[in-house]
Amino acid sequence: MLTGKRIRIFGVVQGVGFRPFIYRLAKEYDLKGWVLNTSSSVEIEVEGEKDSIERFISDIKRKAPPVARIERIEVEDSVPNNHRDFLIKESKEEPGYQLISPDIAVCEDCLRELFDPKDRRYRYPFINCTNCGPRFTIIKDIPYDRKNTTMDKFRMCEDCEREYNDPLNRRFHAQPNACPICGPRLWIEGVETEDPVEETARLLKEGFIVAIKGLGGFHLACDATNHRAVRLLRERKKRGYKPFALMMKDLQTIKRYCYVTPEEEKILTSPQAPIVLLKIKELGDISRDVAPNNNYLGVMLPYTPVHHMLLREVSKPLVMTSGNLSEEPIC
Ligand SMILES: [Zn+2]
Ligand SMILES: [Zn+2]
Repeated sequence: MLTGKRIRIFGVVQGVGFRPFIYRLAKEYDLKGWVLNTSSSVEIEVEGEKDSIERFISDIKRKAPPVARIERIEVEDSVPNNHRDFLIKESKEEPGYQLISPDIAVCEDCLRELFDPKDRRYRYPFINCTNCGPRFTIIKDIPYDRKNTTMDKFRMCEDCEREYNDPLNRRFHAQPNACPICGPRLWIEGVETEDPVEETARLLKEGFIVAIKGLGGFHLACDATNHRAVRLLRERKKRGYKPFALMMKDLQTIKRYCYVTPEEEKILTSPQAPIVLLKIKELGDISRDVAPNNNYLGVMLPYTPVHHMLLREVSKPLVMTSGNLSEEPIC
């Protein structure tokens, strides 16, 4: 007998690949109906075998995308509408609020593509997919759809559009989907260059301080092993003795300089890639002026594609400090 259910899911469920996940799950259990984003939840109507629907609902909780956070699921019976297929429908606006996902560090799959010369996004600094990339920073309004993000100015090219519309693609409904043909570009203000990342790396290696726009504001960056550059940055920031945060290429590099417990490792590599305070093992070539009279270093891993590209080229720890003057809000 055909059973129908109406399901509403609350929590961090938009911008984390939830609708594609529901779509694939519904197909797996041969359920018909639809899924859509509302301003306050993800709403699903399904119909099919009672047993399949039950397993479908339990899988929603068990197999949700890695960065989703389900706070509550409401399920009620509904009269089957004899849907022929399962669809992702247009978002519905309604009163309410929606938890927005934070920006998510670039995922392993995107990193692999970023450094694969055969990939069409090879060295494309704005690579992303449903599992990673900017969210909070680009959202202008809810529900989370491309038209409500700062990406609405960039029209997807044919290839990107195809990925966006293919339910089996990792970029299915990835709102910031982009490529070198159709997406945003990187540049250095006042410098003509073919390759802004390579040029930035060169400047850093020569001891310059570079302001790098990332997610949510500017970082001032310099080579952490260049004593003169670190000192100059400290003067310019009027920073006194407060320690600077560092960005290092990978865990292995971090472990050369600091002790890392399993718990700290988990936080470092989490999707939000925060700064973690780590006990210094051996300062080595890092300037003493990074964290004067301190037994700890504030360290983070690269989290945007640009960070990864830069750190690979410079291959030294970088000071990464917010572009504001000390004690003023970030710009
Ligand atoms: Zn990704
Ligand atoms: Zn494109």
